[in-house]
Amino acid sequence: MKELDTHTFRLAVAQFDQAAETMELDGNLRERLKLPQRSLIVSVPVRMDDGRVEVFTGYRVQHDSSRGPSKGGIRYHPDVNLGEVAALAMWMTWKCALAGLPYGGAKGGVTVAPKQLSRAELQRLTRRYAAEIFPLIGPDQDVPAPDVGTDAQTMAWIMDTYSQQVGYAVPGVVTGKPISIGGSLGREEATGRGVVYVTLEALRHLNLTIENSTVAVQGFGNVGSHTARIMHEQGARVIAVSDVTGGIYNARGLDIPELLNRYKAKGQSLRETKMGDWISNEELLRLDCTVLVPAALSEQITELNAASLRCRILAEGANGPTTLEADRILEDKGVFIIPDILANSGGVIVSYFEWVQDLQRFFWSETDIRNRLQEIITLAFHRTKHFATERRVSMRMAALMSGIDKVAQAHLQRGLYP
Ligand code: GLU
Repeated sequence: MKELDTHTFRLAVAQFDQAAETMELDGNLRERLKLPQRSLIVSVPVRMDDGRVEVFTGYRVQHDSSRGPSKGGIRYHPDVNLGEVAALAMWMTWKCALAGLPYGGAKGGVTVAPKQLSRAELQRLTRRYAAEIFPLIGPDQDVPAPDVGTDAQTMAWIMDTYSQQVGYAVPGVVTGKPISIGGSLGREEATGRGVVYVTLEALRHLNLTIENSTVAVQGFGNVGSHTARIMHEQGARVIAVSDVTGGIYNARGLDIPELLNRYKAKGQSLRETKMGDWISNEELLRLDCTVLVPAALSEQITELNAASLRCRILAEGANGPTTLEADRILEDKGVFIIPDILANSGGVIVSYFEWVQDLQRFFWSETDIRNRLQEIITLAFHRTKHFATERRVSMRMAALMSGIDKVAQAHLQRGLYP
């Protein structure tokens, strides 16, 4: 399908093909799972503050729903297109299956630069987008969550728009909501916390300790900032962080609580904090460190820079940060990769807890959330590690193959309709 043929979709399909080949996946299933189950493209007309009407394009793609409702975030970014959303939806399918969550994968997005819109414009955009995808979403059908460019407020507007249409409050239609309307404790930091939990396991596996580790984080949004904070709390020396404009580097370690205070509470840019030397995103990736966490956009580590990476562990907070060519180079260099669908699964794991709490109208303590998250993601790490050793494949292939296998079993057991 021509519209799907973008570089991110090609990466997701190339990974899938390689895994399917290695595991000798049924040929019919292979054809089916390469493509999304359902894709919706919507026009989103928005009255701008100056009175003009601007029309944005939005998407919701459900890759698979054989194991349960489909699940996945909504992205607001100028580069969003059908291929990217479809790739991200496919990764959600494998991610949920790998973690053992009873979900399929989905993703949504609007092609927009959210920072250029006022809060009122963003609210109107979100509500109209939610109304347009209304036929597809619901607690039993498809459950959106935050992703790049969206947050708890975005989810609150979607929850309200959906609830207004049906006539009563439906908290379980989205996750990552504010606590006051059925959100879960610990959801906001969950992806970052999950990245730290799997990194701790990888360090242990390599006979390293967090206290003697240095960490560099690319991206200082939800995933990057919480990862940096929790790594610091666990005793690691976080030597560099960056956002879209560039990053700061301090070999002695950045004072992360103070940095977060200046960046988030005082609204200073990373550069204005003057807490380290100014470096480019490309320089950050090449830093000598124990753990490198790409937590920004996809395809950051490619054949062009992979050979220059100097980390021991690559913990993929972002979705799809590494190309297949880069994978090969990193593997030859002996970098231990914690693949995205494992490393960043903490977000959707706690989304699952939120959805369960909403459906039961019974809420858990933060300690419960953290313990259950750690249990699920640590088990997924060890299952993947075991699979990789047993089948002599990379951690990425092991994670993909375990996820794909669970989805394949569901398809084969349900059979082909009609
Ligand atoms: N957007 C996050 C991800 O890529 C979370 C998805 C969710 O919680 O549904 O995994």
